[in-house]
Amino acid sequence: MSSKWGFSTRAVHAGHPEGMEGSTVIPVFQTAAFSFSSSEEAVKRFELGEGYVYSRYGNPTVRSVEEKVASLEGAEDAVLFGSGMSAILVSILSLMKSGDHLISEESIYGGTYTLFNEILPRYGIEVSFVDSLDKSQLEGALKPNTKVLFLESPANPLLKCLPLEKLARFAKGKGIISVVDSTFATPYFQNPLQWGCDLVVHSATKFLGGHGDLTAGVVAGPRSLLDPMRKLFHRHLGTVISPWEAFLLGRGICTLSLRMERSAHNAMLISQWLSLREEVSAVYYPGLKSFPQYEIARSQMRGFGGVLAFELKGGYRAAEKFQDSLKLISRVASLGDVQTLVTHPASSSHRMLSPEERKKRGISDGLVRLSVGIEDCQDLFSDIEQALGALS
Ligand code: PLP
Repeated sequence: MSSKWGFSTRAVHAGHPEGMEGSTVIPVFQTAAFSFSSSEEAVKRFELGEGYVYSRYGNPTVRSVEEKVASLEGAEDAVLFGSGMSAILVSILSLMKSGDHLISEESIYGGTYTLFNEILPRYGIEVSFVDSLDKSQLEGALKPNTKVLFLESPANPLLKCLPLEKLARFAKGKGIISVVDSTFATPYFQNPLQWGCDLVVHSATKFLGGHGDLTAGVVAGPRSLLDPMRKLFHRHLGTVISPWEAFLLGRGICTLSLRMERSAHNAMLISQWLSLREEVSAVYYPGLKSFPQYEIARSQMRGFGGVLAFELKGGYRAAEKFQDSLKLISRVASLGDVQTLVTHPASSSHRMLSPEERKKRGISDGLVRLSVGIEDCQDLFSDIEQALGALS
C-alpha cells in the first residue's frame, strides 16, 4: 500500500486482499495445502512461485499480514514467524554460518541472550556481548569474521535506548548487517530501517498482536535479505505461524495506533507519579527527562511506548510483596497487552542469568517492570498505590 497514506490508515487497510468476494476483513485460509487445477499449474506454482502450494511455504492470510507489517515498517517486505524467538533465530541462521562472529548488545531479552550465549556457540557461531553505547567496546569486539550486529531498543527490561542511526552507520562501514529488535517501540513509535538498520524484528506476541492471545514474530527489511531467509530457512525449519494466529495478528494491528497512544499516555503518567514515591528509588521510562537515554529516544522515536520499570527500595522481598498485592494488574511474564501486566525480572524473564550477570546489566532484585495497558489510568494508580501501601 502506498506510503502516502497515514500510519493508522495503513494499519487498517494494508495487506487487505482484493477480490475475496467483497470480504471486509482478511479471510482465514485455514488449510494445510492448495489444490492445483492441472499438472501444468502445479509446475508453475512450484517453479515460478506463482500462487500457493502448501501452508508451510506460504498462505494468503499470512501473506496479507506480512504486507501490513512491511507497510508499517516502511520495508520492502516482511516474513511472519510462529514466535519472536523463531524470527530472531531464523534471521541469524540465514545471515551467518559456522565460523562467523556476532556482536550483540548486552541488554537484550533473556531468551535472546540464551539463544546467543548457549545455542549459537554449539553450532560454531561465536558471540560477543557489548555495551553498544560504548564505542571502544564495540570496536574492541570487532573481528574479521564479524557478520552481524544485534541490537534491541528500547531494551528489556531497563528500556535502554541505542542510537540506531549511529550504530547502523558503524555496522555499514564495517560490512556488517545490523538487526534491531524493536518489539517495545512497535512501528507506531519507531522504524529502525529509517535510520539505516538492515533488518527489524518484533515479537508480534506483544504490542503488534496486542491482546495476549497469540504468539508470533516478524522480520521486515529488503527482499535481498528476506528472500533467502524465507525460501531456504523459514520453509525448511518449519518456523511458520498458523493462518488463524496470523488472522488474529492482522486484526490486532488494525488498532495498533489507538492502543499505543493510550498505553504510552498511561505509562508516562505512571512513570511521573512513581518518580515521586518514596518507596521507589529509580524509574526507567524513555519519556522521562531524567532517563539516561532520553535524548536518544526523543531523536529517533515518535513516542516512548507502553513499558516502564522501577526499582523498589526494599529489594527482592518488596518486589514480591508488591506484585502479590496487586488486584487489577496481572502477574504475567509478558508484555504488550491491552491489560496492564507486572513482571519481576529477577524471578522470571531474567532468572536464567546469574546474580552477577544480572547485576552487571543493572537488573536489581527490586526491579519491577510494568507493561501498561489501555485501562483507565486512575484505576491503575489506585491499584499501584494500594500495592505500594502494602509494603509498609
Ligand atoms: N524480543 C523481546 C524484546 C521480547 O520481550 C521477547 C519476549 O518477551 C522476545 C523477543 C521473544 O518473543 P516470543 O515470546 O514471541 O518468542
